[in-house]
Amino acid sequence: MFDLDPTTREPLLSTPEARANYEHAQREVAAGRLVDEGVVEHQTSYWDAGAIRCHCGAVVELTDHWEGSACQRCGTEYGSTGQMFRANWREFCRETGELDD
Ligand SMILES: [Zn+2]
Repeated sequence: MFDLDPTTREPLLSTPEARANYEHAQREVAAGRLVDEGVVEHQTSYWDAGAIRCHCGAVVELTDHWEGSACQRCGTEYGSTGQMFRANWREFCRETGELDD
């Protein structure tokens, strides 16, 4: 696989090794040992939970970790979408068996 220039759609061959690898691949295709599948798009996605402003005024960076995020100033905890957790959520979850630390 080779990265493509987004404008020209030509392979980005910025190093001698990349050029040699590309030429080798072309020879292998010509010899019938490799199949040229053309341009195949591969993408990745990234999710950032973002940040909210806590009721105390501090900015809280959210996380998708199950324990949520705590305000560094007042200690209020929030879930990944910014919902405020009840103050005793850990105690509640121990009672229901969801948390067994
Ligand atoms: Zn706060």
